Amino acid sequence: MRKLAFGYSTRCNVRCGHCVAADGILEHSKMELARAKVILDQLSAAHITGISFTAGEPLIYLDDIAELIRLCKEYGIYSRVVTNSFWAKTPELADETILKLKGNGLSQLRLSYSRWHQENIAQQNVLNAARSCVKNGLAYFISFVTDFSEEDVAFEQYLREHRLIFFPEPVIFAGRAQSFARQPIRTDYQENCCAMNPYLAPNLDMYACCDAGSHFSKTNFFHLGNLQESSVHELFEKSETDSLYNHIRNMGISAIASFAGYSARDIIRYRKCELCEKLFNNPESLAMLQSEADSGMNVWCR
Ligand code: SF4
Ligand code: SF4
Repeated sequence: MRKLAFGYSTRCNVRCGHCVAADGILEHSKMELARAKVILDQLSAAHITGISFTAGEPLIYLDDIAELIRLCKEYGIYSRVVTNSFWAKTPELADETILKLKGNGLSQLRLSYSRWHQENIAQQNVLNAARSCVKNGLAYFISFVTDFSEEDVAFEQYLREHRLIFFPEPVIFAGRAQSFARQPIRTDYQENCCAMNPYLAPNLDMYACCDAGSHFSKTNFFHLGNLQESSVHELFEKSETDSLYNHIRNMGISAIASFAGYSARDIIRYRKCELCEKLFNNPESLAMLQSEADSGMNVWCR
């Protein structure tokens, strides 16, 4: 199944303290609508089955996104929009946007929520948006971004009290969150495998990872190419056949770190994107792993 995170624009109307999408870059880029439509046609031809509209805040461009969603529906592509709910100040305003999205064929809405988002957006907005989804028959879930600190308990409680559908999502220590204090990790030794859905940026650069992967500036490890020079199919094929990427998918970051010499005690100190950054955003470490990807790593077990 081929899925893509589609970055129509990096513009956002708020400035969350933890944002991965913006790490001090003040300039915003946006795709041309006509170009985005052509790309959707190419994505359909390349058998992409799911698209998540993300990056900055997509619904700043509600009319454009609605058109792109309608095209997804025509092509039989599952569509999702990731939003901060700025548009849902009242139940009536929430209904207006939800009905427009649903009317154009949106499959699912993902509402971002965290103590950082909610410095700018009222919790009530998220509640209005979720309730409007239920009322109007649109699937939704809330992505509750958390660093698992005590400060987040009340935020989780709010979701529970209102019986909202939510999933905790660990904050990624990249972008503006890079300097955040880390909470000690209290969990098992995890495999840390990643599905790695590609991310398409507004400037048509495509990356093999849609989370922190576009920020590996020392090696550009996840950069697949640009759609002005390569086709969608070529870039997906590159992502699907690269042996190191496939080790991340199947073997997991922890096993790769272990192969690279990290002790188990070191491995559990890092969240997966941090560990990934240590392994693949370091030219020496990357060169070693790349040369081992097809030989040593294939037969390695701990
Ligand atoms: S709403 Fe999303 S894109 Fe906008 S600043 Fe916050 S985390 Fe970043
Ligand atoms: S661990 Fe690496 S591949 Fe997985 S989401 Fe994080 S940056 Fe991307």
